[in-house]
Amino acid sequence: MEKPHINHSEFPPLSFRDFSTAFAHLSDSELRFSYWLFRFMNKEWMTSIGTSMAELALNWGIPLSWAVKPTIFRVFCGGETILESLRAVEKLGVNGIGAILDYSVEGQEKESEFGKTETEIVRIIQLAKDNTSIPVSCIKVSGIVSNVLLEKLSSGAELTDSEKIAAQHLQQRFERICQAAYDNGVPLYVDAEESWIQDAIDRLVETMMARYNQDKAIIFQTIQMFRHDRLPYYKDLIAKGRREGFKIGMKIVRGAYLDKENDRAKEKGYPTPIQPDKAATDRDYNASLKLSVENIDWVEICAGTHNEESAIYLTELMVEQGLQNNHPHIYFSQLYGMSDYMSFNLAASGYNVSKYLPYGPVKATLPYLMRRAKENTAIAGQMGKEYSMIVNERKRRSTASFEI
Ligand SMILES: Cc1cc2nc3c(=O)[nH]c(=O)nc-3n(C[C@H](O)[C@H](O)[C@H](O)COP(=O)(O)OP(=O)(O)OC[C@H]3O[C@@H](n4cnc5c(N)ncnc54)[C@H](O)[C@@H]3O)c2cc1C
Repeated sequence: MEKPHINHSEFPPLSFRDFSTAFAHLSDSELRFSYWLFRFMNKEWMTSIGTSMAELALNWGIPLSWAVKPTIFRVFCGGETILESLRAVEKLGVNGIGAILDYSVEGQEKESEFGKTETEIVRIIQLAKDNTSIPVSCIKVSGIVSNVLLEKLSSGAELTDSEKIAAQHLQQRFERICQAAYDNGVPLYVDAEESWIQDAIDRLVETMMARYNQDKAIIFQTIQMFRHDRLPYYKDLIAKGRREGFKIGMKIVRGAYLDKENDRAKEKGYPTPIQPDKAATDRDYNASLKLSVENIDWVEICAGTHNEESAIYLTELMVEQGLQNNHPHIYFSQLYGMSDYMSFNLAASGYNVSKYLPYGPVKATLPYLMRRAKENTAIAGQMGKEYSMIVNERKRRSTASFEI
């Protein structure tokens, strides 16, 4: 097939070292604030004291909002409600970046809480319908059903009568959410979770893909490339979609909770589903990007990554296949407050970019915030990536102010 000729020169060239574009959305005082926060997180002992105190406060029910909301919450979350998050949505939107409102409430156990999550996600879908700054919606299936039931469903174990009813509720809730996504034309990204609950999620998502992705991808699966079985899974799914006539929507990530996966496999004595090393994860991540671009007539993807090499590799694959930078089937995505130097520069070069924007009551977002804090701690004495980018931009601004 002859490739269409794309004039790539119509888009500004991509550079991840263009700090002025990367941080243009932050005023001097906001940049100073981020600098102090990332400097704090960069010190392992400070992060470790901070997260231990947060854990204690969580367990003992000590209110923490006063300390967390004006600091770490402000950098990594949109707000406590959808309404509060709209300022961040707008700020991303004016820079050509879409917001994926992520109702970040974890560890729910009660039916009433699952119902609240469903209502919240449907509200986001309805809001997104008329707001171009919110291109898609997302869901963690563990937000609408208990982990215990998901694990049982994944293992194929016999369910009790009450569990059978709960499983029906899950099915109905998930169907209503997918139906809302379809009716409003707003794609739904379904997050990937721990391997021992993922099979049940995969089955739910595949069924909904077959139902709603006839014309375009509305329901998106997520694959974690730190699992050694995901590349063959993805290949089979594309073949199945082509055979049965439904489009594939895929968010591609490396995967969170690596230690949890390895520890559990060791404790329970089964082979770990995780790749032998980081290089193998990177290899499969990039292979899945290649597979996607080669099947771009049938597949729509979101490359959820903070890895520069993978993002650049995807842009190279797009050039090879003659795809324009803003090809509607390809999104690059990062987390809010992370890798702005990638998101803002990709958007400035015409690529489709979105950021996961978590929101929810401060207490409920604490586990998410603790993960972000740990991730931004310096590794082996090196300066954390985010921190070093902010330091560079501060240097650039102070030099620029002397050059007038
Ligand atoms: C928009 C977006 C959506 C996301 N959605 C999900 C989701 O639905 N489910 C989910 O699980 N995660 C999700 N994540 C998190 C993601 O899986 C990664 O944890 C995170 O993005 C770090 O990986 P990276 O590609 O950015 O880059 P890198 O920093 O290059 O890679 C770090 C990752 O490499 C892998 N890795 C590290 N060491 C090893 C090792 N020794 N052996 C094998 N692999 C190793 C791990 O997956 C680790 O997280 C999402 C991230 C983004 C940006």
